[in-house]
Amino acid sequence: MGFRYRLHVRALPGCPDIVLHKYKIVLLVHGCFWHRHGCKSTATPKTNTRFWQTKFDSNVARDAKVTKQLRAGGWRVLTIWACKAKDEVKLTKQLERFFAKTTHTDI
Ligand SMILES: [Zn+2]
Repeated sequence: MGFRYRLHVRALPGCPDIVLHKYKIVLLVHGCFWHRHGCKSTATPKTNTRFWQTKFDSNVARDAKVTKQLRAGGWRVLTIWACKAKDEVKLTKQLERFFAKTTHTDI
């Protein structure tokens, strides 16, 4: 899309996947299974249920914390779920809409 970005920025909370400094935007790309999207890819394994549940709970709690910290630091945070990222055309449109809002406040 022509935007400049950096990957996995360690200086920011949660080491976000994609960072667009110019627009003060962070994109978090979440795998549906690990981050519990709630879609059909979010089934919980039938064995070691307790282990999985603890793991999932801590992932979800960390996501919430990181998002809160980033927003407190003035970043706009957009979570992109893996299942939604498969439709490239739709995803591009959503990203354009999100970026457009920010460009407006940039002036
Ligand atoms: Zn999903």
